[in-house]
Amino acid sequence: MQHITILGATGSIGVSTLDVLARHPERYRVYALTAHRRVEELAAQCERFKPEVAVVGSAQAAQALSMMLREKGVKTAVEYGEAALCAVASAPGCNAVMAAIVGAAGLAPTLAAAHAGKKILLANKEALVMSGRLFMDAIAQSGAALLPIDSEHNAIFQCLPQEYRRTPEQHGVAKVLLTASGGPFLKRAVETLESVTPEEAVAHPNWVMGRKISVDSATMMNKGLEVIEAHWLFGAAAKQIEVVIHPQSVIHSMVSYIDGSVLAQLGNPDMRTPIAHALAYPERIESGVAALDLAQIGQLVFQRPDFERFPCLKLAYDALLAAGSAPAILNAANEVAVEAFLDRKIGFRAIDRVITQVMDQVPHGEAGDVEGLLEQDRRAREAAQALIH
Ligand code: NAD
Ligand code: MG
Repeated sequence: MQHITILGATGSIGVSTLDVLARHPERYRVYALTAHRRVEELAAQCERFKPEVAVVGSAQAAQALSMMLREKGVKTAVEYGEAALCAVASAPGCNAVMAAIVGAAGLAPTLAAAHAGKKILLANKEALVMSGRLFMDAIAQSGAALLPIDSEHNAIFQCLPQEYRRTPEQHGVAKVLLTASGGPFLKRAVETLESVTPEEAVAHPNWVMGRKISVDSATMMNKGLEVIEAHWLFGAAAKQIEVVIHPQSVIHSMVSYIDGSVLAQLGNPDMRTPIAHALAYPERIESGVAALDLAQIGQLVFQRPDFERFPCLKLAYDALLAAGSAPAILNAANEVAVEAFLDRKIGFRAIDRVITQVMDQVPHGEAGDVEGLLEQDRRAREAAQALIH
């Protein structure tokens, strides 16, 4: 029996994870569920999955949740705050952690799971982008297992040999090919991008996701963060990571080998596939995802990405090459800019302008410890806020 903590249980990935777990009650029990503000949804999840612990973001939210659980007769203990998130991510009572909080807020609990040697199912790419080396070192030291949930990285993982050890050359890997849908604005006239609304930006053609990652998909910063994520997960250098636009999102990514072979993983665009894969690895379990009907899809289409349309993709490659804390600064500036866009304080194209200026203004340094990284994260956020005002 595996005992699972889901960080970010009320989000898009959290809900899909619970959907897969519910199909296999003989294999999985929920140890803890966490949410930031959506207390009613969390209460309903607690009633259904009966976790030992539930964690929310504030004392008020904890009070509200406790009251709802008492009314429902549910015995789940209620806690709040970052220390409680770290505690449920590293508790002896859990063996696997789904890291599905959005953004830098997920860093501390995800790192706590890494230090505690848990099996980590990593959806929270921002945590890895920020802390790449520290995170991978923590995993190596504790012996934690790391399984990618991001569909592209999960696909690459599936296309690599089982004994793969983050050394592409030793395994004959020439490149990893990250596929990208291109998001909702792949074909829209570039001059009109300034005026797109948050509603248009979050309307992804193939995937239903949280608001932040949906905007990241529209700017292609999501793919940029995934390039950095691939660097850390697979030990690939920037030039060994290629982005291919594939609007149908049927091929989730590929690995190109030196003998000319290209291996791909395909499936319907539904996150329950990578979630089920990572949960059961190395076994396979049913996920609820329909079988792929290739004849109905008919054709698969590919094209090269355009850095003028998608400057955020270029910014992310630049941050990866700059190394140190540059990816953490990029990530922080992006989080602030995306939130300002969603709040209608800035236009869509201001997102890349804010990030460009923050990258110029905030000198990047070493990424030697968490405190240093958080300080850089804070400076980048301040610089981004100042630009937005
Ligand atoms: P979401 O917005 O739907 O859910 C986010 C979850 O995090 C919620 O449960 C929320 O309560 C929690 N949360 C938000 N702010 C928090 C804070 N400050 N402290 C603690 N908890 C907080 O997001 P999502 O789409 O589920 O994405 C989650 C993560 O998974 C992101 O890092 C995203 O990049 C990654 N991811 C998502 C998808 C997808 O299909 N949705 C695919 C690949 C990767
Ligand atoms: Mg992805």
